[in-house]
Amino acid sequence: MLTVCDLSVSYGRFQALRSVSLQAAPGSILGLIGPNGSGKSTFLNVIAGVQAVASGEVRLDGTLVPLGLPERVAAHGIGRSFQTPRLAHRLTVFQNIMIGARPQAGERLRSLFLQPATVRRREADIQDEARSVLRRLDLSHKANDYAGMLSGGQQKLLSLGMLLMGHPRVLLLDEPAAGVNPVLIERQINLLKELRAEGRIILLVEHNMEMVCGVCDRVVVLDSGAVIAEGDPDAIRRDERVMRSYLGE
Ligand code: ADP
Ligand code: MG
Repeated sequence: MLTVCDLSVSYGRFQALRSVSLQAAPGSILGLIGPNGSGKSTFLNVIAGVQAVASGEVRLDGTLVPLGLPERVAAHGIGRSFQTPRLAHRLTVFQNIMIGARPQAGERLRSLFLQPATVRRREADIQDEARSVLRRLDLSHKANDYAGMLSGGQQKLLSLGMLLMGHPRVLLLDEPAAGVNPVLIERQINLLKELRAEGRIILLVEHNMEMVCGVCDRVVVLDSGAVIAEGDPDAIRRDERVMRSYLGE
């Protein structure tokens, strides 16, 4: 269980998050929506450990997650994707996927001397896994293309694949559907459902309400850094205050 309690963040005098609390269970997708500037990305940054907090805490299965320390947060099995995918454009799709399986610092060099056979096997295992992730994304036919040559939607899938190579228990996704064509959005939706069925926790920041309503078990609505509503997608859609603030209707 991911539990966020009373999280507050300030940029100087500006308060970007105001005492935000939420919970997400294993095998569930929690949507995080709200107008631009409402603090969604800031929230993901906090959980990913790259944004300092003024107060509050995050726990995963009761264990305190060390905020502000991205490497240690990653070691807790928390992984994130970015609004604009961070790919190595001049490496191939396959090479990018392999980057997602970054070993611990020093691990490769040390074990190279101690257990060369083990290292070779591990490398082969990672390559097998990379191939299976590409199959899962339906990107196998692009394995040897430069990542920079992919369409925007394919780049988003690739960044999801890189994330999966780190075996995250918690996935933080920042607008995966933005600028993506409907066919690839559908593929993302299927993938998210599979990941949920595997028992992972997914926090989905997304403007595309079809995607939000199609996959989320619950939705939290942020406005000006505060939670203004929470419920199942249908209830959120019927909530007048949400409509006014978020959809501008
Ligand atoms: P969202 O992702 O919901 O659009 P953000 O979390 O990116 O919102 O931003 C929330 C608010 O905090 C915005 O008003 C934004 O201008 C502000 N903000 C975000 N990052 C910074 C920063 N590094 N320094 C100062 N203000 C920031
Ligand atoms: Mg954002």
